[in-house]
Amino acid sequence: MSFILKCLDCGHNAPYHPTATSCPKCGSQWREAEYDYELVAKIFIKNLIGRPFDLWRYRELLPVRKPNPSLSLGEGGTPLIRAVNLGMMLGCPNIFIKDERQGPTSSFKDRQASITIAALKEAGITEMVAASTGNVAISYSAYASRAGMKLWAFVTSLVPAVKMREIALYGSQVIKITGSYDQCKQVASEFARQRNLYQDMGARTITSIEAMKTIAFEIAEQLTYVQGPGEDVPWKTPDWYVQAISGGMGPIGVYKGFKEMRQMGLVKSIPAFAPIQAEGCAPMVTSFKKGLEKAEVVSSPKTRIETLATGDPGRAYEFLRKHVMDTNGTFESVSDEEAFRAMHVLAKMEGISAEPAAGVAFAGLFKLIRAGVIKPSDTVVVNCTGHTMPAEPSILGDNWSRDVKFPSKEETPREGLLSALTQVAPERFPKIAIVEDTLEARRLIRRILQSQGNFTILEAANGREGLEMIQRELPDLVILDLMMPEIDGFTVIEALRANPETAAIPVIVATAKELTPDEKNRLGDQIQALMQKGDFLNDEFLEEVKALIK
Ligand SMILES: *Cc1c(COP(=O)(O)O)cnc(C)c1O
Ligand SMILES: [Zn+2]
Repeated sequence: MSFILKCLDCGHNAPYHPTATSCPKCGSQWREAEYDYELVAKIFIKNLIGRPFDLWRYRELLPVRKPNPSLSLGEGGTPLIRAVNLGMMLGCPNIFIKDERQGPTSSFKDRQASITIAALKEAGITEMVAASTGNVAISYSAYASRAGMKLWAFVTSLVPAVKMREIALYGSQVIKITGSYDQCKQVASEFARQRNLYQDMGARTITSIEAMKTIAFEIAEQLTYVQGPGEDVPWKTPDWYVQAISGGMGPIGVYKGFKEMRQMGLVKSIPAFAPIQAEGCAPMVTSFKKGLEKAEVVSSPKTRIETLATGDPGRAYEFLRKHVMDTNGTFESVSDEEAFRAMHVLAKMEGISAEPAAGVAFAGLFKLIRAGVIKPSDTVVVNCTGHTMPAEPSILGDNWSRDVKFPSKEETPREGLLSALTQVAPERFPKIAIVEDTLEARRLIRRILQSQGNFTILEAANGREGLEMIQRELPDLVILDLMMPEIDGFTVIEALRANPETAAIPVIVATAKELTPDEKNRLGDQIQALMQKGDFLNDEFLEEVKALIK
């Protein structure tokens, strides 16, 4: 489809060519592709029928004249997965994960690389330069190999060695820069300038922004499939779009996608944007919170999450800030530890192993829900941007594997095998009894505990069963509901305290209702902690659990 480039500074229109990277009138590098939306609106939905679910189905709004199937690796068309367990845990049932790990090289950079390389190939360009914190270079390298292009990949020395080797495996030249990512970009730029090579310019790259917007199109189509069409419009949009950012290219492109759909009458609204950064390198978040129009640069990033280490976002911040404010969104930051923990929770609760950068998005989600910024009734889409390979040792902690030596020749095979297997048996994990009459609540507490450590979990569905179980099993901790049939929680506590064998077992009371002063008195100092049921995701709850079973 034909399109023009509109300058975001002076409004001047110019034709597109990949190597012409600035406005011929004012010199600005910030321009945007514009299509004939009125025309496309008439044919768009109809044309989608029967097309495969990959990003080329939106070709009327992509900057490639003739999609070339021989370059494709099946990019785009990633699933939108409902996060049932996370939703239950967070009390926010409509959380969806846009699973960008399922791209050809396991990150959402595959959209950027596939469209950009297709456009370069069309323009007859055969060599290019990219600076990267890892994933961009992996993806460009894969697509460059298919297109017969040469890629010079500039990466910082913090990029994990496995990622560097993958870049090299596809045949690209890896250039390792000891310095920050911003310095790495400077070196790459100078190299490209000297040799007159095409260079990826992050959020200023037309093809990259156009590629990222296909995430918005897919979300709208997929959400419509699950929730039905929007009010008076064919497609549905979520209330929130959450993504971990470095340079901010993703959300800038996704915003453009929603904006184009709205312009064409396909959707009613644009979701609130929540870009999340790592605390140790969060120039956009701090600048936003200070109300600054230009970003304060972080010159030496202090995060272990190298994927997100853009210290100088440049003008991407201005544009993203505007989108965030226009959509009543917000910027948020999380610590590396919060991101690692979220990554672990995501894996244990939803079966999704994401890289730490994606953990940042989920940690941000947790924070915004807890703070009440994201409401329980909101529909949220979290972009799970990249796969983890390999898992960080620091996340798993010790004892994540058990080593078994196969029996040696001297032992009889049977005896040897048995003795080997005794090494697999778990040591005694702390026992926690959950006494709670609603199945949902029991499952939720069990899941939260399981996502955070190794516990043997016992369950009882009413006070009588619970009391018998506790007296029989002598658990290390009891999590107890108050309002239950047969014997209520108050009576259970009194019975436990009256029996010397169970008198010292710590009890956390979990209750859905506010207690009256009388009830509080009755509990007195017989219990160790009182929790509202909504508080479970609180780190406090887990801290409490861990402290009590020591
Ligand atoms: C590139 C990348 C990001 C950051 O994306 P931007 O939108 O460019 O800021 C986040 N997570 C992963 C896994 C990435 O590869
Ligand atoms: Zn201009």
